[in-house]
Amino acid sequence: MTLVSIESLWSVLDDIGDQAVLITVPDMVIVHANRDYLDAVGMPLEHARGRKCHTVSHHSDRPCDLEGHDCPVRDAMKTGKISRAVHLHEEKGGAQKLVDVSIRPIRNETGEISHVVETIRRNDEQGRLHEDLKRKTGFLEKILQTCPEGIIGNDRRGNIFLFNAGAEKIFGYSRDEVIGKVHARDLYPPGEAREVKNNIYSEEYGGRGRLVDYETEVLNKDGKKIPIRLCGTILSEDGEETGIVGFFTDITERKAMQERFLESEDKFRGIFETAHDAMVSLGEDGIILLANRSAGELTEYGVGEITGKHFKDLFPAKYHAYCDEILAYVSSRAPGRPGNIMELSILRKGRGEVPVQMSLADKGGKGKKILTAIIRDISERKAMEEELRILSITDPLTRLYNRRHFQALADKEMERARRSKGRFAMLLIDVDNFKKYNDAYGHAEGDVVLRSLGEHIMKTFRAMDSGFRFGGEEFAVLLPDTTAVQAMVPAERIRRGFSEIRFLPMHGEGPVHVTLSIGISEYLEGYTLDDLTRFADSAMYAAKNGGRNRTIRYEGGDGPKR
Ligand code: GH3
Ligand code: MG
Ligand code: MG
Repeated sequence: MTLVSIESLWSVLDDIGDQAVLITVPDMVIVHANRDYLDAVGMPLEHARGRKCHTVSHHSDRPCDLEGHDCPVRDAMKTGKISRAVHLHEEKGGAQKLVDVSIRPIRNETGEISHVVETIRRNDEQGRLHEDLKRKTGFLEKILQTCPEGIIGNDRRGNIFLFNAGAEKIFGYSRDEVIGKVHARDLYPPGEAREVKNNIYSEEYGGRGRLVDYETEVLNKDGKKIPIRLCGTILSEDGEETGIVGFFTDITERKAMQERFLESEDKFRGIFETAHDAMVSLGEDGIILLANRSAGELTEYGVGEITGKHFKDLFPAKYHAYCDEILAYVSSRAPGRPGNIMELSILRKGRGEVPVQMSLADKGGKGKKILTAIIRDISERKAMEEELRILSITDPLTRLYNRRHFQALADKEMERARRSKGRFAMLLIDVDNFKKYNDAYGHAEGDVVLRSLGEHIMKTFRAMDSGFRFGGEEFAVLLPDTTAVQAMVPAERIRRGFSEIRFLPMHGEGPVHVTLSIGISEYLEGYTLDDLTRFADSAMYAAKNGGRNRTIRYEGGDGPKR
C-alpha cells in the first residue's frame, strides 16, 4: 500500500462515487466521511466524526463481530488486504439495505495499518436477488412466504438475505432478526454448517452443487436442536457462485415416529425371541437370516445351525413346490400378503416330520423384502384330531368300525369296483337268539359275547377287509376283490370258530355256546349300497329261516343259496 497523508484522502473520499468513510484502527473511530455516506446515515459530518463506526452504520453499541456478523475491518487489519462483506445497514428513516462493504487498509509512515477506508455500495448481487423476489416477482415472494418449508438464502459469506415465514416457524426468529444479523452457520450446531457446505459440493447427495434430502439438525432461536430434512442448491450468476438457497423441512414428528417404530421393533424382537411358535425370517434368496429359539428346537437344528440354511431344506420334498411359490412371491416384491395360513409338515434334523401350521408375514426392511414365517407345532392338535376321528368312526364296545364308517367305506369300495370292474363281497352277521341270552344271563354277559365276536371278526379276516358293528347284535364285513363264493370260506370259518367258544356267564350252569347266522351278498354292476345291504340281509334271514347257525349267499333272482 502506498503511503499517503491522511488529510489528502479526505478529498478523494468526496469524489469516490460510493459511500465512503475513513476509520482509525484499532479503535474504529470515524475520521472523515463523504457526502453519500452522510446522506445515507442522515447525519452531518460533525456528528459522525469521532464516533465508532458501528454506532453510525449499524446504530449498534456493539461491534459487528460481537453481533454475530463478520467485521471486515478486523479482517483487513489482520490480513493487510482488502476485505469485503455484505452488511445490512440502517439508513435514515430506518430502512434496512443490504450493502457491499469494502475495507482498504491504509499504512502510516512506519508501515503499520493506522486507518482503513470503508466504501459502501448497495449490494448488487444479493440486493438485486432480494429486490427481484420482493418487487418484480411478487408472485414468487408469495409462494416463498406461504410455502410450509423454511426457505433461507445466504450469500457466499454466509450473510442471510432470504428468510421466509416457514423458516421463521422452524427457527423461531423473525426475518428482521435474521437478515444481515445472523450468520448462516449460527443456524446449525457447531461444525454442522461446514458439513452441509461440504456435502453441497460433494457428488454424494444429489450431485455437485445440490443437496437432496439431507437429514441434519439446526438450532432454533432458543438453541434447541431441530431435526430437519434439507434440500439446497448453489446460486450462480454468469457462472459465478453467489450464494446458497436451502429448503428446510421440520421432521421432528417423523423422527418421533421412527423412534416409536424402532422401539416397537425392539418389542417385536422380544416377542420373536420368546415366542412359543417357531419364527424364521428369510431374504429374497430364501436363505434364513434370523431364527428364534423355538425354530431351533422344533427343527432340532438349534438357532446357530438353522440360520444360513435354505428355507426349502426345512420341509419334505413334497412341499418344495410350495416353498418355491413363496420365494417367487418374495422376490416379485408384489404388494400385500403372501398366502394365508397353511398346514404342512416340517423336517426334524434327526428323523421324521412334525405337522405344523405356517403363516407368513412380509416386511420391507432397508430396501430388501424380508419374509417371516411363523411356524406352529400342531402335532398335539393333530394327534387329538386323529383320536377324535377314530372315536367318531369306532364302536366303543367292540372296537370295530361303526355303521357311519360302514357307509363311507362301502361307498369308496363301490366306487373302486365300478372303476375297475371289480367285485367285492359283504357279510351280514347276526347273533342267534341273542334276546334269550340277554334274558338268561343279563345284559353285561351279552356284552361279553358281542366284544368276543368283535375280536373274532378282527382276527379272522384279512387286513384289507374291514369289520363293522352294524347295530345291536348285527355285524358287517366288507371283503374287497372277493366274490360271494370266495367269501363263504372266511364266513364259515368265523361261524364255526365262534360257535366253538365256551362262554361262562355268571349264574350260568356250565359253558354256553352262541351261534351266528351269516348272509353274503356280492356287488354287481348297477347295484346300489342299499341293494347290496338288502341282499345280504335277505340271505341272512334265509339262514335264520333255515334253522340258524349257517351261512347263506344271495344269488340274484334265483333266491338265496346255501
Ligand atoms: P334271532 O336269532 O332271530 O336274531 O333272535 P334274536 O333274539 O337275536 O333277535 P332279536 O332282534 O329279537 O333280539 C336282539 C337282541 O339283541 C335284543 C337286544 O336286547 C340285544 N342287544 C342289542 N344290542 C345289544 C347290546 O349292545 N348289548 C347287549 N347285551 N344286548 C344287545
Ligand atoms: Mg338281530
Ligand atoms: Mg339276533
